[in-house]
Amino acid sequence: MTTLKLLLLPGDGIGPEVMAEVEKVAAAVAEGGEARFEFERGLVGGCAYDAHGKAISESDMALAKAADAVLFGAVGGPKWDPVPYDVRPEAGLLRLRKDLGLFANLRPAICYPALADASSLKREVVEGLDIMIVRELTGGVYFGEPKEIRDLGNGQKRGIDTQVYDTYEIERIARVAFDLARKRRNKVTSGEKRNVMKTGVLWHEVVTAVHAREFKDVTLEHQLADALAMQLVRWPKQFDVIVTDNLFGDVLSDIAAMLTGSLGMLPSASLGEADAVTGKRRALYEPVHGSAPDIAGKGLANPIAMIGSLAMAMRYSFGLGATADRIEAAIARTLAAGLRTADIRGDARSVVSTAQMGDSIVAEYRKGA
Ligand code: NAD
Repeated sequence: MTTLKLLLLPGDGIGPEVMAEVEKVAAAVAEGGEARFEFERGLVGGCAYDAHGKAISESDMALAKAADAVLFGAVGGPKWDPVPYDVRPEAGLLRLRKDLGLFANLRPAICYPALADASSLKREVVEGLDIMIVRELTGGVYFGEPKEIRDLGNGQKRGIDTQVYDTYEIERIARVAFDLARKRRNKVTSGEKRNVMKTGVLWHEVVTAVHAREFKDVTLEHQLADALAMQLVRWPKQFDVIVTDNLFGDVLSDIAAMLTGSLGMLPSASLGEADAVTGKRRALYEPVHGSAPDIAGKGLANPIAMIGSLAMAMRYSFGLGATADRIEAAIARTLAAGLRTADIRGDARSVVSTAQMGDSIVAEYRKGA
C-alpha cells in the first residue's frame, strides 16, 4: 500500500475545529487498511501572519508542493482586518492556488434527502439534487492586471480590476467539465456574459470548439450567467455540470450552497494540470465556507463540508472512489439518524457539537459502506 502525503492547513476560526474531525475520519480510513497517511501540518492565513508576518511561509509552501494533496480549513477573521492587503489571510489561499497551478475548482452541491427541509427552497425543488460547479480559479478578474486604485488627482479615485482569459485557460477548464460530465449525467452548461463582455464572447467560442472537437457525445448548453443564477434557484435539477469563470463561479457556487441547506455542507476540490508522466494532479481540498468568526471556538461548526473534502481527496487524488463513497454514505446515515449541528437544525429538538457530529460519522464509517 502506498503512503499518501497529506498537508493539513487548518487556518483560522473554525478551520482547526473542523480539521480535527477530518483527522478522526482519516484515522478510521487508515485503521481499515484502505490507505496509509503521512501527515504534515502548517500555518496559513491569520495564524501564519501572526507567526511569520506572511499569509503562508516559504517552508509551508514547499510542503504544499511536496504533498500528494493539501487539506485546507479556512482563513481570516476581524482580528486581521487591519493587516496590509498583500499579507492579508486570503493571500495565503491565493498563493497556494497560483503556485500549485490549481486552475479547476470543483464544487459539488448535493442535497441529502434528510436535509431537503433545511433548504430555503421547496423540498421538491431540491430533494435529490446533485450538481457539480466547475469554476475557473487562476484567471479572470481576480488576477488580471492592471489591478489598482488610481488617484485621478482631482479628488477622485478610480478602482480598476481587469478580466482577462486566454484560449488555453478556457480549453483546459472546459475539458475538466466535459470529462466530469461523462462520469455523471453527460451534460455541461457553460455560463458567461457574452452579451456584454469580450471575455464572454471568447469563452463561448472556445467551449463550443472544444466540445465540437473532443466531446461531441456530451450535451452542451450555454446560458448567460445572470439567467443561470435565476435557473439555479428556479429549477436546479436541470443542471449536471456547470462550467464558468472565476467571478461567476464564486457567486453561483454560493447560491448552490444555499440550495443544499448550509455552507457547512459544501466541500470543494481545486485541481491542477495532470502530470504528463505520472498523471497525478496537484490538489487542494477545502470546505466552501470561511472561518465563521461568529461561531469559532464554540463547538458549533458543522464539520461535514471539511469531511466531504477528505472524501473528494480520496476520489480525485488517490483513486479511492470506494473509500469516498463510504465516507459520504457515513455522512448520509448520520444525517438520516437525525443528528444536526446548529446550522442545519431545521425542526430538530436538539443539536450536536462539531465533535459529536465527527464522532458519529466515524462510527458510521466503521460500519462499512
Ligand atoms: P463564513 O463562511 O465564514 O460564514 C458565513 C455564515 O455561515 C456565518 O454565519 C457562519 O457562522 C456560517 N458558517 C460558515 N461555515 C459554517 C460551518 N461549517 N458550520 C456552521 N455554520 C457555518 O463567511 P463570512 O462570515 O463572510 O467570512 C468570515 C471570514 O472568513 C472572513 O474573514 C472572510 O474573509 C473569510 N473567508 C474565508 C474563506 C476561505 O478561507 N476559503 C472563504 C470565505 C470567507
